[in-house]
Amino acid sequence: MSILIIGAGHAGGAVAANLRQLGSDAPITIIGDEPYLPYQRPPLSKAWLKSDVVFAAVGLRPQSYYEQRGITLRLDARASSIDRGAHTITLASGETLGYRTLILATGARARRLGLVGEDLPNVHVLRTIADADHIKAALVAGRRLVVIGGGYIGLEVAASARLKGMDVLVVEREARLLARVASPPISAFMQSFHERQGVRFQLETGVTGFDVRDGRVAGVQLSSGETAAADMVLVGVGAVPNTELAQAAGITCSNGIAVDLEARTSDPDIFAIGDCTERPLLHYSCRARLESVASALEQARQAAAAICGGKAPAPEVPWFWSDQYDLKLQIAGLPIGATRIDVRGDMEQGKFAVAHLDGEGRLCAVEAVNAPAEYMAGRATIGKQRAG
Ligand code: FAD
Ligand code: NAP
Repeated sequence: MSILIIGAGHAGGAVAANLRQLGSDAPITIIGDEPYLPYQRPPLSKAWLKSDVVFAAVGLRPQSYYEQRGITLRLDARASSIDRGAHTITLASGETLGYRTLILATGARARRLGLVGEDLPNVHVLRTIADADHIKAALVAGRRLVVIGGGYIGLEVAASARLKGMDVLVVEREARLLARVASPPISAFMQSFHERQGVRFQLETGVTGFDVRDGRVAGVQLSSGETAAADMVLVGVGAVPNTELAQAAGITCSNGIAVDLEARTSDPDIFAIGDCTERPLLHYSCRARLESVASALEQARQAAAAICGGKAPAPEVPWFWSDQYDLKLQIAGLPIGATRIDVRGDMEQGKFAVAHLDGEGRLCAVEAVNAPAEYMAGRATIGKQRAG
């Protein structure tokens, strides 16, 4: 009856704890290719870069938690294949491990640009503690940082770099910031807030190459024909789901490993949770890949309940957050089906909310800036109006 979890990230750590909370006494093993106990990534682009945060503050649970509950951690170990017929997985070391139930929690990795020079030491991505440590060491007052990508990673790192006194330019391919994850009023507000903190932006601009000097990138060549001088580059151009193991094993994948509301894949003995999945969204009658802690934790509860034969957890309204300077952006729901928006509060004062409504006046999503009450109320309303 053994349970194997591949991926010792937020989802993998959470599902192991959920299984024990629901009374599972099956042997549980977590395989993780990073050298750390399961940890939270959100602080890596926020507190980790700004202050001396230690691992204990980001680790999900201490080592003793796993030891006391008989959860075996195999860290620095990479799963390289799954044999579904034999119910085994093989590690990169060649070792084979058996399972009754397998949970894929392989997450996502930072997307790369595929440009010559991207692997030089002053070009960074941010996904792991190791990445965050390298970035933190390079955030030095007066240096020039070029951020490629105006998404959450780009803006959160830009904020941390400005607080450290760096010169920051953000290059974004879209016509507005946070285009994938937020509405035009939020994009406009965030841009002007960052500009007031001294961040410069070049929108509708791609990157065509790097100027390399003495083994380092010294400039970023832009689609506008200009070159932006750089001491350091951060590439924050999205995340790619780690679906290769599942795909090679013949498990159905689309924009992620396809799962149902129990987080079960096309193989009934294999579950998948977190950033690597494409999941149903009950409140919106559609499927999507959500890259968020809330979604990973919800799916961990779904999988644990299904494996233990427990009651399925009530479906959650998707929610997200981002911290930049002293701004807290909180988002509940998705603007799917929305036909109009309604801005409430005081944008000038940096305390407002954007409501997204459908043709029948039902709330689809709310985006709140320093307005936690609006966010909480919106989340509850979406849950009630869109239940079932
Ligand atoms: P991950 O946390 O990526 O964990 C997957 C783990 O599996 C990784 O350690 C990976 O190396 C490992 N793995 C992959 N393949 C294998 C293999 N074959 N063998 C062994 N191990 C393997 N979300 C929010 O909701 N709010 C935020 O503010 C926020 N901030 C973020 C800031 C940063 C810098 C980053 C990078 C992400 C942020 N996110 C945020 C997203 C959030 O961290 C993810 O949604 C969450 O980590 C997903 O958890 P996961 O377990 O699915 O994936
Ligand atoms: P993201 O939100 O997808 O943003 C990346 C941005 O970069 C997009 O706007 C993208 O535009 C743009 N881009 C892509 N290629 C480009 C290019 N060549 N030149 C200029 N711009 C380019 O991804 P991210 O910010 O990198 O975040 C990565 C992961 O971390 C995601 O899973 C994210 O959810 C997670 N994260 C979340 C938070 C949070 O929730 N607060 C914080 C940090 C990280 P296109 O749309 O045109 O590709």
